[in-house]
Amino acid sequence: MSKEFKRQDGRKPNEMRRPISAKVGVVPNADGSAMYCSGKTIAIAAVYGPKKMHPQHSQNPEKGTLRCTYNMLSFSVADRIRPGPNRRSTEISKITEWALEPVVMLDKYPNRVVDVYIHMIQADAGTRCAGINAAAMALAHAGIPMKNIVSSIAAGKLDKTVVLDLDKYEDSEFKEGEGSTDIPMTFTPDGKLTHIQVDGHISKEQLKEAMNMAREACKEIYEVQKQALKEIKE
Ligand code: ADP
Repeated sequence: MSKEFKRQDGRKPNEMRRPISAKVGVVPNADGSAMYCSGKTIAIAAVYGPKKMHPQHSQNPEKGTLRCTYNMLSFSVADRIRPGPNRRSTEISKITEWALEPVVMLDKYPNRVVDVYIHMIQADAGTRCAGINAAAMALAHAGIPMKNIVSSIAAGKLDKTVVLDLDKYEDSEFKEGEGSTDIPMTFTPDGKLTHIQVDGHISKEQLKEAMNMAREACKEIYEVQKQALKEIKE
């Protein structure tokens, strides 16, 4: 890791954004809900169900369905976003399902669906990870049986240096040298990977370094999630 590398906001390469915080029970009408904040990124997730899957032909008699819907609110970035689904939100919704499915015990709910709605209140990159963190807590809060919760963060590369938790500038506007690579990842508390995406180029060695960085950071995120779940008053 290069010692001289300076990030625009002064963070060290292996430093995540601060503050990180989490709160459970933010949507009282939902069966479970949570908020996760990292720097300027704020995600909320609300869980409804399990309930009977409609239409009937979508029912799976073997196991329940986890249906995630990711959405950035129109005021979540400086340029107003056109409301409604788009290719990016459809992709992130799917990715979120895949990141969570390994820990959610869906075999307990044949023919049923658990809906997870994820809304970005403020978006400064890392929104899919913040959404997954909020969704994992909201599912636990809803009492959906889970083997574990999961924690998510991106690592990547700025020019030649492996870094943790890219912000919007680093993700989209950093153009020096080799440019930027963003790698969102999700881990179980015992360090098993449930999701990884690689947007850009990275060598095998640096990918390993990025994964180790993200795995370490997820331990801290997990503690924040766990603490928020302990603080439920109901
Ligand atoms: P992630 O938020 O998971 O890092 P992306 O890499 O696709 O996902 O997006 C990075 C950031 O770019 C977002 O967090 C948001 O700040 C910004 N962004 C994404 N889509 C739009 C959009 N349609 N309009 C304005 N900003 C956007």
